[in-house]
Amino acid sequence: MNEFELIQRYFSFADDPEWLHLGIGDDGAVLAPDPNQQIIVTDTLVEGVHFFAGADARSVGHKALAVNLSDLAAMGARPKWFTLNLTMPAVDEAWVAGFSQGLQALAKEAGICLIGGDTTSGPLAISITAAGVLSKGQRPITRAGAEVGGRLAVVGGLGLAGQAVAARTTGSTPTGAQAQALDFPVPQLLAGQQLHGVASAACDVSDGLLADLGHIAKASGCGFRLHGEALARFCSAPNEGAAMHVLSGGDDYALLLVTHADTPTPEWAIEIGVATESVGIEISEAPTWLENAFAAASKTPGYQHF
Ligand code: ADP
Ligand code: MG
Repeated sequence: MNEFELIQRYFSFADDPEWLHLGIGDDGAVLAPDPNQQIIVTDTLVEGVHFFAGADARSVGHKALAVNLSDLAAMGARPKWFTLNLTMPAVDEAWVAGFSQGLQALAKEAGICLIGGDTTSGPLAISITAAGVLSKGQRPITRAGAEVGGRLAVVGGLGLAGQAVAARTTGSTPTGAQAQALDFPVPQLLAGQQLHGVASAACDVSDGLLADLGHIAKASGCGFRLHGEALARFCSAPNEGAAMHVLSGGDDYALLLVTHADTPTPEWAIEIGVATESVGIEISEAPTWLENAFAAASKTPGYQHF
């Protein structure tokens, strides 16, 4: 199977929407202009770095798109189109079929259209660039908008994916829920749409809660006080190890939002803290095991590549 047949069979799965004047097959895609602001995100997954060697192809296809959709959700954007750069050592058709299935299922669910890409040989890596749009009058939700007094809240799980990584790294089997969180993360697209009018800042949790919250704090010039009791409910057991996964485990793709100062936490999110004037992140009313984990996690930054 040559490269062209491969693209035809596995990556030309959607009907072209009316705004796509020219899709896969030419030197470039041609899009009608969009009247509203567009948000562009990109993320790369490398085998052995972002997913385990030999990981299920469906999971890799799903995750490559999910991590980008998670970024779009955190900006409050509606997914529109994406490109796919696929580098693989050889054409393993069964693998490509599984990859395409995982990718296609999520693309359909999210209503995002694959408009092009590139296929090359080399060590397995997937790079996706995705675009989302805002509706008329909407503004992008950035990391820089947190207001003192705003409620800090989470949509989605924390710590499960980190537990799956820890289990697999040590040769044991993660629970079904842990494996699902790591292999098929759910981008919080609906919540992303609901941010408008509610949140003044947001980001997705990809590198660990404290690391990503630190990004909001820095960009917004504020601090945060975490509610220990609320965070404890995210921990799978009342011990330091479980708390470490919640505070600094990566790969969760939960959505972190800060409400406008006068806006209560919406019922679809779980409040875990408040934005404060004093810079730095602190925790209150935490059980001892969580306080200890917080002290340890505060010293170690989230996942860093270099
Ligand atoms: P070029 O030789 O100009 O790089 P390609 O042969 O790589 O062109 O691509 C031909 C067409 O197939 C282009 O429209 C490109 O966007 C599309 N394409 C290539 N690889 C992929 C892929 N992995 N997923 C989606 N579209 C792809
Ligand atoms: Mg090419």
